[in-house]
Amino acid sequence: MTPLLSSTLRLDEVRIAYDGGRGRHVAVDQFSLALDAGQIACLLGPSGCGKTTVLRAIAGFEPVRAGRISLGEVTLSSATVHLPPERRRVGMMFQEYALFPHLTAAQNIAFGLRRQPREAQHARAKELLALVGLAEAGGRYPHELSGGQQQRIALARALAPSPALLLLDEPFSNLDVDTRERLTAEVRDILKHAGQTALLVTHNQAEAQAMADHVGLMHNGRLARWDGVTRT
Ligand code: ADP
Ligand code: MG
Repeated sequence: MTPLLSSTLRLDEVRIAYDGGRGRHVAVDQFSLALDAGQIACLLGPSGCGKTTVLRAIAGFEPVRAGRISLGEVTLSSATVHLPPERRRVGMMFQEYALFPHLTAAQNIAFGLRRQPREAQHARAKELLALVGLAEAGGRYPHELSGGQQQRIALARALAPSPALLLLDEPFSNLDVDTRERLTAEVRDILKHAGQTALLVTHNQAEAQAMADHVGLMHNGRLARWDGVTRT
């Protein structure tokens, strides 16, 4: 299940700015980090510090004004390069990425595999359902699943195409505290089992510590700290 061609994510001195009515607003500046294949990192910081902006730039939804974003040997973004999102091998699970209500859990998971033969789609969906602990739920519709189960199906959908990198933006913020705590540990296990490189955003410190191998603390568009998490 380890993604083929998995590779180190690198951001070097990245600057991202928004053009607005009152001129250019630099949301992220001099932002550098390196995340090795198979590792999970968490960006932590107050609302408005630039966490989502960093993920959107990595996914290819915001251009980079300076610096470079690369995955393995491939430059994804720089001042002169902008690879389109669908060519980045980057998967996303954003909080607002709801499941398609008219598709079953298995069909939701297979959604990103539409170009593959039907057999392969079925096999992959089955494998992912087992990975997220919902082997029996493939035929159920989203409204027949709990919030936590829906979130696990959304994770399976994001993992299905075997992205080299998975981005998660506050994936648990719509859930109640108990579900959230349980799911945090479960999702770490699922990602580790899949050998999935992942960069996750949260503003909850406990969640960051529970999930990640590295925690990056953001402040005013900059990376203020980048710490390894020790596990006993
Ligand atoms: P976070 O995810 O950490 O809450 P964001 O990345 O969403 O922060 O926002 C960082 C900064 O960029 C904020 O000052 C925000 O107002 C600004 N910003 C975000 N998106 C846009 C946009 N589409 N246009 C203009 N400014 C934006
Ligand atoms: Mg955000």
